[in-house]
Amino acid sequence: MFGAAVAYGLARDGVSTIMLDGADGSLRAARGNFGLVWVQSKGLGLQRYADWSRESAHLWEDFAADLRDSAGIDVNHQNGGGLNLLLSDEERENYRRNIDIMRQQAGADGYDCEIIERDEIQKMVPGLRVGEGVAGGSFGPHDGHVNPLKMLRALHRGFTQLSGRYFPCNEVNHISHDGGVFVAKSAGNRFTAPKIVLACGHGITKLAPMVGLNTPIRPQRGQVLVTERIEATVEMALGSIRQTDEGGFMFGNSEEETGFDDGTTLPVTRNIAARAVKAFPQLENVRLVRNWGCIRVLTPDKCAIYDESETMPGAYVATSHSGVTLGAVNARHISRWVSTGDTPPNFDQFSARRFDVPATA
Ligand SMILES: Cc1cc2nc3c(=O)[nH]c(=O)nc-3n(C[C@H](O)[C@H](O)[C@H](O)COP(=O)(O)OP(=O)(O)OC[C@H]3O[C@@H](n4cnc5c(N)ncnc54)[C@H](O)[C@@H]3O)c2cc1C
Repeated sequence: MFGAAVAYGLARDGVSTIMLDGADGSLRAARGNFGLVWVQSKGLGLQRYADWSRESAHLWEDFAADLRDSAGIDVNHQNGGGLNLLLSDEERENYRRNIDIMRQQAGADGYDCEIIERDEIQKMVPGLRVGEGVAGGSFGPHDGHVNPLKMLRALHRGFTQLSGRYFPCNEVNHISHDGGVFVAKSAGNRFTAPKIVLACGHGITKLAPMVGLNTPIRPQRGQVLVTERIEATVEMALGSIRQTDEGGFMFGNSEEETGFDDGTTLPVTRNIAARAVKAFPQLENVRLVRNWGCIRVLTPDKCAIYDESETMPGAYVATSHSGVTLGAVNARHISRWVSTGDTPPNFDQFSARRFDVPATA
């Protein structure tokens, strides 16, 4: 999703761009995610990332319109705010503390998120009865959601309509730099370009050192469940029980340290389903039709890394969790950074150098 958004932005700006991609079976969080454009709780410990997420959410409306124009695909972006249901007093208290910390961190800029009560939640989701087990919710006015599969499709189609050239099944296994030109090799092909952007999820771990960059990321599994389609009842973006534009509900999503195992397990599936039914008891009789596991791309502080190589200028990395949320800033600001060198304010805060531990004597 990161790569497709940056490539789309470059093509949009008229920059001659090729996009190299893996095969159908490659790890691809872009195909298994939850579809939230989410700002609340993002950026704990790095305010610049909280601001970045909020900026992207604000740019999303124009971005969706742009995708509609260039790709002819409506990605069903909704930005009426987002609600995260809290299913116990303990969850509520933890979240309240989190809001306090985020507020302190944000200082004068403020942090727009508040805890709301069950009766207010009920007014926000009139189509479903809110369960007795709901202890409250956190409401963020900047949050929203989108159809992530349509988003990926729109980025790809928009990219090619804008004269970008797409090469699937070309997993890059070697990069070299010679005479100001980068050479990327896949099993059967060789591609050259004056600049190269590594925005390839977990593929970065192997490729970044080849351009002199260190990009620490780790895998984390999330399991997601999908129900049959039912009549539309909930338009608002909900943090873990979201109704899609097509009518099905998505329930999610776990956070499991299982390496690159993207399987599913019954205990986790059961727990996710039980939480959904606790939140909205009516969902008890809705049939589950699909579930999957998908691997997140997480940096150590869960905030984005954007870096240009010092030893090989013209080579960039761009990676993070939240590739849906950040789609708008990636397509606009990151593509511009790559093509012109212009950076948004305080952009160096996104460098992976923030993880360097000073040597002790
Ligand atoms: C369960 C789950 C729920 C999520 N929910 C949300 C959400 O609600 N909102 C949100 O904003 N984000 C969410 N995300 C995160 C979001 O999906 C990711 O941030 C985003 O997909 C990451 O994009 P990426 O391009 O870095 O990686 P991926 O989407 O994994 O894509 C990597 C791409 O790089 C290609 N590639 C890899 N290696 C190479 C190579 N050597 N050569 C060429 N190509 C290569 C692969 O083929 C693939 O196409 C979720 C993720 C998960 C797992």
